[in-house]
Amino acid sequence: MSPASGDPLELDGTVVVVGASLAGLRAAQGLRRDGFVGRLVLVGAEDHLPYDRPPLSKQVLAGKWAPDRATLCDQGALDDLGIEARLGHRAVSLDVAGRRLELDDGSMESPDAVVLATGCRPRHLFADQGVMVLRTIEDSGELRARGVAVGEGCRLVVIGAGFIGSEVASTCSGLGCVITVIETLPVPMASALGTTVGGALGGLHGRHGVELKTQTSVGALTRGPGGTTSVELTDGTTQDADVVVAGIGVVPEVSWLEDSALTLDNGVVCDAGLFAADGVVAAGDLARWPFEGELTRIEHWQMAADMGNGAATALLAGRSAAPAFVPVPYFWSDQYGEKIQVLGHPSPDDEVVVVDGTLEERFVALYRRGDALSGVAALSRPRQLMSYRALLAAGASFDEGLAAAKPG
Ligand SMILES: Cc1cc2nc3c(=O)[nH]c(=O)nc-3n(C[C@H](O)[C@H](O)[C@H](O)COP(=O)(O)OP(=O)(O)OC[C@H]3O[C@@H](n4cnc5c(N)ncnc54)[C@H](O)[C@@H]3O)c2cc1C
Repeated sequence: MSPASGDPLELDGTVVVVGASLAGLRAAQGLRRDGFVGRLVLVGAEDHLPYDRPPLSKQVLAGKWAPDRATLCDQGALDDLGIEARLGHRAVSLDVAGRRLELDDGSMESPDAVVLATGCRPRHLFADQGVMVLRTIEDSGELRARGVAVGEGCRLVVIGAGFIGSEVASTCSGLGCVITVIETLPVPMASALGTTVGGALGGLHGRHGVELKTQTSVGALTRGPGGTTSVELTDGTTQDADVVVAGIGVVPEVSWLEDSALTLDNGVVCDAGLFAADGVVAAGDLARWPFEGELTRIEHWQMAADMGNGAATALLAGRSAAPAFVPVPYFWSDQYGEKIQVLGHPSPDDEVVVVDGTLEERFVALYRRGDALSGVAALSRPRQLMSYRALLAAGASFDEGLAAAKPG
């Protein structure tokens, strides 16, 4: 790293990528694709080869995929790219000015550049009472094993009706569990998608025999005999459960960077080109960068993949010449056999207009912020949804979005 320089990375230097999951892997692959021939180290706290998280709450949890099918890249592919994987090792500190990175075995790296891609960790709730979370391959395996051990009719309480909680409810209902989902908000996902679309998506639970209790939360938990848990809700009711899972959000994994002098504020704060400092870029769930006029952090698969690529491009261009990272955000969620998809960056206060179908069934809904088309949400309308991508990339007006609507 050249301490006070925005110069491009030397192609035969050393880069350390910290975080061996989607964003980190895409950054490493992107560096090789774009001509970096130097030493490339991929440090990952997990023992596994880089793997994909979306199947953990879907196919892997359902038992339809063996866990290793979620692997993103095998050892041979890493070898072919000359990527030195240091798996099962955690980075413990980064001295940006001195260009020193320390790992948990005491070893030191002195890279020319660093990619920060350590993602997020789940928020825990009543972990000491056996409440599970779902982030890793081990979490998915343990949740499945606990459900299977109880068998058909396993009583599952899911705390949080966000995407992870809702996917757990959906997958486990397919396994014969009897499920109650607890949500603090009046409408699930209202803070991300607004009450209209959030309400429509929350309706999926009831239509598939899963009880959704809103405007309540967990007050206390008591473990009884035989592994049963009594979940006391703040509305005064009690749910008995064999398994309890919390899907109540995540926090950026930045604790190892506390002494780095980087700006840490709900993630690693970056400039428009994804640089957190000269020679240091960030990508994926932990990166917060200026997007649409405000610092933004987005925790979705496509964003992590695009940012990993963007971080590689940025390093090779150098800080002074790095292009602004301007994606069209996208995410999907699979629930109860339906596909939820959202393009763009809607805000809960945006006006929502349904242009195809109905909110009670399948639909396409456009979001309006001022005169602009800010986002599109769809339930099981993949072709129609994707037709808006180019419009969003071009910064189209809401009226142009309406004109492009293709019902059916
Ligand atoms: C169960 C589940 C289902 C999901 N489903 C969807 C979906 O359907 N659609 C969608 O759009 N998104 C989905 N997501 C979100 C998506 O998977 C994430 O946005 C994506 O994984 C983020 O990638 P990342 O590389 O930034 O971070 P992560 O995947 O969190 O990876 C970070 C890696 O860094 C490692 N690490 C942490 N600290 C250190 C350290 N100090 N040193 C070294 N390594 C470290 C971690 O162990 C981890 O392996 C899902 C997520 C989960 C958990």
